[in-house]
Order: sequence, then structure tokens, then C-alpha cells
Amino acid sequence: MQKSTLILAAIFALFHLAFVAPFVPVANILPAGLGALSMSSMAMSLILAARWRLIDRLMGGPDKSYAAHRWLGFFALAGALGHWALASSVGSGLLPLLAESGENSGTIAALGLLVMTAAAMVRAIPYHVWKLSHMLMGPIFLFAAYHTFFVASPLAVGAAPWALMAVVSVIGLIAWGQTLLRKRTPTKLVSVSEVTPFEGGVDITLASDTPLSSYRPGQFATLAHNRARAEAHPFTIAGGDEWSRRFVIRAAGDWTNSFVQNVTRGDAFRLSGGFGRFLPQIHAGRTEQLWVAGGVGITPFLAALEKMQPDGNARITLLYCIRSRASAGAIATVEKHAARLPQLALTVVNEAHGDLLIATRLAYVVREMSSDAEAYLCGPEGLKLLVETAWDTQGKTGAIHSERFDFRGAYSLADLIYIGKPVVETARTWARTKVNAVNAPLGS
Ligand SMILES: Cc1cc2nc3c(=O)[nH]c(=O)nc-3n(C[C@H](O)[C@H](O)[C@H](O)COP(=O)(O)OP(=O)(O)OC[C@H]3O[C@@H](n4cnc5c(N)ncnc54)[C@H](O)[C@@H]3O)c2cc1C
Repeated sequence: MQKSTLILAAIFALFHLAFVAPFVPVANILPAGLGALSMSSMAMSLILAARWRLIDRLMGGPDKSYAAHRWLGFFALAGALGHWALASSVGSGLLPLLAESGENSGTIAALGLLVMTAAAMVRAIPYHVWKLSHMLMGPIFLFAAYHTFFVASPLAVGAAPWALMAVVSVIGLIAWGQTLLRKRTPTKLVSVSEVTPFEGGVDITLASDTPLSSYRPGQFATLAHNRARAEAHPFTIAGGDEWSRRFVIRAAGDWTNSFVQNVTRGDAFRLSGGFGRFLPQIHAGRTEQLWVAGGVGITPFLAALEKMQPDGNARITLLYCIRSRASAGAIATVEKHAARLPQLALTVVNEAHGDLLIATRLAYVVREMSSDAEAYLCGPEGLKLLVETAWDTQGKTGAIHSERFDFRGAYSLADLIYIGKPVVETARTWARTKVNAVNAPLGS
């Protein structure tokens, strides 16, 4: 988490405590503030989930919206649990008769939030099952809103925080309604015209009989089987024109495994238009750029390269990190563009040849670039951290843009072992020092 994000998160949390403070007794500031924090986090989360175009644009793209949605989910849970643990019935509520049911609905909302957040974090729960279960966030929000207004609370009806919670509840519910009504199946019927398998994935082209909507290089589209209520998956458009779209797809789970193994020429799919704000600069007036792709993260850059004409303007350095040539779908196309475009400096970092993108090597590349150069990254989180560090140490002022392929960011058992390792190591060291202290000769 970046320092600026941490500061923003702290301000957001403290705002709620400060806002309720003048309206409740001192002993109730913390529980009331945490309750308000939970409510507004849930409402904002629902607004982001509704995917209003303006909001996505303001956030810097759907992946950024999702990251914020995820953090707000944690705030909602932390606020709800804190409120649950600390709050006690004070005052009368909107209708004293309903105060007890208001209390019960708060318990249901807190437990629901806990279960839903846990489900979101467990990778073993398939994406489509989790996504379906996540729709329960709407009813959970309803329970929370009912609790806010009907529980015995020290907050006077009509006071500023009460009014804010009323507005937040209404907007949150509108957003949830919009999410329920949103059309999910992409509309355009397309069929597979080319299939080129590679190790662990497939490079495909889809053709359409009617013109497809235009897209900007770097945007993604959603793809679904051509049947009712089929699950739509996002993939970055790797190229194509008015009549076709190219995608490079890696097997990463149920849907993509089956897709990679079974897709054949002539198969019909439903395709959406282009979305997203990850847009590498390809126009003549561009700034100098560093593009870093990890594996299938090459797709946004493929589309960008396809649209670029040879010129002598600002340089683009592309670092393409691959496990091996066999697993790097479309590498031949990337090399073809590198030969065609004098403005492009391509380096393929091939792990199979013992080649890795390490900090010193990246620092060397970045040092040569102009101070206002911009970076575009698409790949694992570790790659992002590496570039951020190089950018900082080399004093670059240009922006770093990144695209996340894994919106959900859930954890598997392997991740837990990885996360738990430092904890186990610390416990072991602590135990060792205790044993040594006990065994040490007296007076030493
Ligand atoms: C903006 C964007 C662009 C992408 N571009 C590419 C690309 O060019 N090539 C490529 O191989 N992969 C790309 N991906 C990743 C691809 O969407 C997932 O690998 C795929 O959806 C996994 O589905 P699954 O059922 O096979 O795996 P699962 O095991 O079900 O899911 C693995 C992870 O993929 C994500 N995911 C799964 N289903 C969806 C969905 N319906 N909507 C959003 N996220 C989902 C979740 O984070 C999930 O945890 C992109 C993802 C995003 C968000």
C-alpha cells in the first residue's frame, strides 16, 4: 500500500469519528464513528460495484475501482466489527417498538460481512460462485441500513450524521439496484477464425460479420460463451480491426483452462466493446516510456505496437519478461514490430536462459531515460514494486501506470504458507532465545 493511500485511508476513517463527535456522548464517539465508517464504506463499495462510467473514469480505470472497492470492503468489515464490539443501546431509535429488531439486523449485517469478506479472500472458492454470493452484499447493506435507523441509538433523528447516513443508504441502495439490472452478457456475436496454441495458453482471433465497436490500445473486452447467462471474462484486446479481435489467453483457472484446451475454429462467442484506462501512449507527441510486460501481460502492448507507425519521436523501451519462448504467446509478433519500429527498444528477459529482471538491471535501464519518462506495467505485483523502486531511486517524476489482471486478489493455501512463514520464523527465533536463556549458566 502506498504512503498516499495510507494517509487517505486514515483521513477517511478519522473523518467519521470527527463528524459524529459533536452529536453523541464522549463514550459513544468511537462505536458511533465506526458504525458510520462501516456504512459509508459499504455504500461507496456498492457505488464502485455498479461500474458507473464516470466513477470508473475518475478512479483511473476499472482495476483501480476494484482495488478501492476491495479496500472499502475491509473498512466496512473493520468498522462493523468494532462497532459491534463496542456499541451499547442508548436512546430510543426512530420507532422504539422496532429497536430490538434493529439490533438483531445489525448482528446479521456484521456476521454477513464477515462471511462475505472471508469468501472473497479464499481462492479455493471458484470466481463464479464467489461472484454470485457477493450479490448478497445488497441485502447485507439493507440490514445495516435498517439497523442504523431503528436501533436504540444516541444519535438524534435529523442530526447531521443521521442525515448523512440516510443519504448514504439511499445512494448505496440505488447503486445495488443498478448492479442487479446491469446487462451482463456481452452483445456481439463473433466466431473463432484463428487458433495458435502455445505452452499454457492460446492466441486466438475472433471474426465478426458486422462491424465491431472501436477500441483504444490497452483496453480490455469481455468474452463469454454464446449461451444464456454465460459467465463473461475480461481479456485485453491484443489487436484487430473493425471486423476482428485478437486475444492471447493463458490458462489460469476453470474457465480459461477449458477455453485453452477446447477452443476451435468456428466456435461462437459473445464479445463486448472496449473498456479501461490503461492506455500506453502511441501518438507522435508522446513522452518517453518504459513498458514492462510479464508473460501474458504483453497483450496491451501488442495492441499498441500494432497501431504504431515508424517515427523518430520519443523512445519506447519494452522489457518483456517471459518464462520461456514456448510459453510466450505472440512473441514472434512482438519481435516483428520491434524490427519495424525504430522508436522501440525491445529486450526479452527470458527466465529459461537464466535471465531475470533484477533491481540493478532495471536501475541501469531507467537511469538512461528522461526524468519525465512514464512507465506502463502489466504483470505480477512484484514487477510493479520493482519498477516503483527503480523510479524512486532514479528520481523519475513521470507517472507509473499499471493494469491488474487479478481483480479479486484472493489467497490460496500456498499464499498463506508464504505469508505465515515469517510469523513461524519469528516464533522459532523467540522460542530459541527463551530456551537459550533458560539453559545459560547462572551468573553469565
Ligand atoms: C482487465 C483485465 C485484463 C485481462 N487480460 C487478460 C489477457 O489478456 N490474457 C489473459 O490470459 N488473462 C487476462 N486477464 C485475466 C483473466 O481474466 C483471468 O485469468 C480469467 O478470468 C480467469 O478465469 P478462470 O475461471 O479461468 O480462473 P479462476 O480461478 O476462476 O479465476 C482466477 C482469477 O481471475 C479473476 N477472474 C476470474 N473470473 C473473472 C471474471 N469473470 N471477471 C474478472 N476477473 C475474473 C479473479 O481475480 C480470479 O481470482 C485479464 C484480467 C483483467 C481484469
